[in-house]
Amino acid sequence: MSVWDRVHLSTRFAEFPASFYTSVNPKPLITPQWVAWNGDLAKQLQLPQHADDHPELLMVLSGIESIDGLSPLAMKYAGHQFGVYNPDLGDGRGLLLGEIIDVNGVHQDVHIKGAGKTPYSRMGDGRAVLRSTIREYLCSEAMYGLGIATTRALGMMASETPVYREKAETGALLVRVAESHIRFGHFEHFFYSGQHSELKLLLDKVIEWHFPNSGHQTRPYAHFLDQVVTKTAQMIAQWQSVGFAHGVMNTDNMSVLGQTFDYGPFAFLDDYEPGYICNHSDYQGRYAFNNQPSIALWNLTALAHALSPFIERSELDKALEGFTATLQTEYSKQMRAKFGLLTKQSEDGGFFNDAFEFIERHQVDFTLFFRALSNLDKQGSIPVLDLFRRREEAEQWLEGYERRASLEPLSIGERCDGMRAVNPKYILRNYLAQQAIEEAEQGDFSMVNTLLSVLKTPYDEHPELSILAAPPPEWGQKMTISCSS
Ligand code: AMP
Ligand code: MG
Repeated sequence: MSVWDRVHLSTRFAEFPASFYTSVNPKPLITPQWVAWNGDLAKQLQLPQHADDHPELLMVLSGIESIDGLSPLAMKYAGHQFGVYNPDLGDGRGLLLGEIIDVNGVHQDVHIKGAGKTPYSRMGDGRAVLRSTIREYLCSEAMYGLGIATTRALGMMASETPVYREKAETGALLVRVAESHIRFGHFEHFFYSGQHSELKLLLDKVIEWHFPNSGHQTRPYAHFLDQVVTKTAQMIAQWQSVGFAHGVMNTDNMSVLGQTFDYGPFAFLDDYEPGYICNHSDYQGRYAFNNQPSIALWNLTALAHALSPFIERSELDKALEGFTATLQTEYSKQMRAKFGLLTKQSEDGGFFNDAFEFIERHQVDFTLFFRALSNLDKQGSIPVLDLFRRREEAEQWLEGYERRASLEPLSIGERCDGMRAVNPKYILRNYLAQQAIEEAEQGDFSMVNTLLSVLKTPYDEHPELSILAAPPPEWGQKMTISCSS
């Protein structure tokens, strides 16, 4: 029996009128093969844990074969790219293949990225290269492992299709899963093109499908916007607390569910450098690490503007005003947990400011710093001091920290246990992704798999794999990643 007799792919999005999408058949890659399959996520979707035992998975998810009821489509959306409105966006290389209802009864979109041209491809070839597909696969799983809202990766295929970027590269395909692929840019498209009844239909359906609680409120649309603001603020607070820079926070890359979406030239900070710009094409630093909160608010303002035909001005303003408060509450909760300081003391504001100023000045690795602070209960050396350029200053700072920490009603062991559960040992450093990609391009996926194994449980020690927690060697420092993907 085929898997597809048991698991159905249907598409609620296809219920929308024709102006919302174009039906497009995938253009299969040449001899696609699985190079990764996410058994855990497959299980959630009631799919087999091993893809190779079920060739029909490859045949359907690569687009080679169709099955009854399958109607792949490219979504139409628009968006602000680097602050400038672009009406011509849409799924240019991705297709919504269908939805699967998971073990929890939740609809999950199955989207294939790299499936060939669509009417929204503009100058693009509709393809994705192995390099960027590996980056998205690894990073979305890393974010999931960190407990940060994100789209997921179900599997990835490599192929013999050459894809030309700066040079010929391996064509690949990512099978991406998310409760929704609806972006801020979907709403902007209908607003700016004056299709306000479609805009209302989109709002109603998004509320029905994804924000049912808003549907029960007296002001459902305003409540919905409130929810998007809250979820986005929570996501950004989490990004900032693990040192994640997205790199292309255009409104078409913002999920209405507040999930990390469309991984491109992202980076995790190595040294703590708040102004870090990871996107090679971001000349002004619009998407620099420390700009992410204000950019998220800018993007939410663009969404709010697109919803203005249906939400009163005062309600729009009120929803947007909630952003900063939620972000600050969430961020300060995260930061307190990272330092193991759960009670509030009057000098805490100064303590946090000093700490960040200090690690920036000493160019200390952000992740190693917090992990080392979490290990102060361990016998022997104090590795946190080794991270600083001038040890005496570090000793002084550490004394101050220990004085503050001693005010907590916890033993050092309890405090450190709590800190190890929120300060990851492993993040997806760009140099590690780069090494894994270079090996994968030679056909060796072992590093991709090893990285996945630590990134899925990044708070665990995995002592035999500690090398993957190391800061970058010189060649891997401050890598900026090009947008070509
Ligand atoms: P991104 O920068 O990946 O968020 O994409 C911005 C827009 O370009 C979206 O409309 C994408 O669908 C489209 N796009 C990106 N890469 C390609 C490609 N290789 N072929 C066709 N369209 C693409
Ligand atoms: Mg995008």
